[in-house]
Formats: sequence, C-alpha cells, structure tokens
Amino acid sequence: MEYETIRIRKIEGTCGLCEEYSEKNSTVPPKIAILSCEGACARGEVSRRAANLVAHSLAKEETVRICLGGAFTKNTGQRSLVRRAEKCLAIEGCFVSCATRMMQGVLPDLIPEVILADTLYDEPLPFGIDEVSDETFSAYARQVAEEVVAKYIKK
Ligand code: SF4
Repeated sequence: MEYETIRIRKIEGTCGLCEEYSEKNSTVPPKIAILSCEGACARGEVSRRAANLVAHSLAKEETVRICLGGAFTKNTGQRSLVRRAEKCLAIEGCFVSCATRMMQGVLPDLIPEVILADTLYDEPLPFGIDEVSDETFSAYARQVAEEVVAKYIKK
C-alpha cells in the first residue's frame, strides 16, 4: 500500500455550530456516522444530497451527519463522532472514495461501509452541476438514500 503524507496547518478555535451539533449527537449508544465525499461534481452532489437525506430525514434518529472537512482537519467534536461510532457509512460520489480515505488518514483503524453512489443509478453524470437538473439530483439522491437506509440502517 502506498501513502501520501500531508501536513495540515493547525488553527485556533472551532466552529461553534459544528461543535454544538456534535455535542447534541454524541448519544449513548453512538449514532451511525454518515460521511460523504461532499464533492464539487454532479456525482458528488448526488452523494452529498443522499447523505443529508439519510441523516436529516430518513434515519434522523439513528444517524449523525459528519462534516468531512471539520472531521478531517480538526481533532474536535466531528472527528469524535466518527471515532466513537460503532458503524460508519461513507456515501462516496465515485470510486476515488475521498471521504473514506481522508478519514482513514486521521483515524487509521476506521473501517466504514463504503457505498459508491454512482453505481446505484443508471445515468453517467457529467462534472458540472449546472448540467444536471435539480429534479434529477433529487431523484437520484433519494434513490441512493433509500437504498442505504434499507441495506445498512433499517434492515
Ligand atoms: S471525488 Fe469523485 S464524486 Fe467526489 S467530487 Fe471528486 S470526482 Fe466528484
């Protein structure tokens, strides 16, 4: 296995909203942590919307939405949510699996269930989110989210 080594500049302070959400969702037993690539492209947009649907609507009680950037760059509440979760689902936009690989960089023992969202809908999507309608994003995100919930959360 080959690795890239990066240095992340530390900063003082935390995001209050992120920490408040993390604290509120640090339940016992821990909630299932929902990661997504949060990507800029249309496939990332589907995974991001699907992750939001799972954590904020379809399985609100069972799951918590992780801020990937926060959990990756700071060792505070969001990373803790992933560290203490007994189960972690990474809804990835594509095979690059950014969310999984980023989090494994800071939590080497993490073994999430990886869902490649782009394998769950038929149409290959372009990069630009301006080339895909809002209705299509909503439909694909719901399709992905419903499958994730049925397979990994409410079995
Ligand atoms: S990782 Fe893949 S899905 Fe995510 S933004 Fe980049 S290209 Fe898109």
